[in-house]
Amino acid sequence: MQLKIMEIYNKKGETISYNENVSLSALIKEVPELVELQPVNVQASANYFASLYHVRAEISTEATLKCTRCLDEYSFPIQTSFNESFVERKNVHHVEGVEDDSGINIVEGEWIAFTSFVSENVLLAFPFVALCSEDCQGLCYECGINLNKSSCNCQRERIDPRLADLANFFKK
Ligand SMILES: [Zn+2]
Ligand SMILES: [Zn+2]
Repeated sequence: MQLKIMEIYNKKGETISYNENVSLSALIKEVPELVELQPVNVQASANYFASLYHVRAEISTEATLKCTRCLDEYSFPIQTSFNESFVERKNVHHVEGVEDDSGINIVEGEWIAFTSFVSENVLLAFPFVALCSEDCQGLCYECGINLNKSSCNCQRERIDPRLADLANFFKK
């Protein structure tokens, strides 16, 4: 996704809107729990003021994630947004502090490319631990049945797997 600088510059004082769907399915390789990602809708608006190009983007899509507890797939809607400012390399000296970690991005050519910002924000929107629901019961570790859907007669002691080794140690 990219915006032509001249187009925004020529409409100084106005906000220009863009709407585009981008495919970020390459993220499937990066996020183990991500099974499928619908096209990502990006509604961006851009304007130019005092040597700076401001871009605001509203991002929405839907992901299919695999629950880490029961391994079932579930749908996970994503709504996120970002604001970024850009300055052309030749105008850097017009803006104070660009070089000192100001968060202002320097544009080298005629285009503001921001697929990387979209992709970064989508990544941040994924849950830290993918769970189909807060109280997902997971799988029975004896018979493997999905405990959200049915029950079994296995004798399960609630042992924290991290403590299981310790428990075995004391049995000896
Ligand atoms: Zn689950
Ligand atoms: Zn069982």
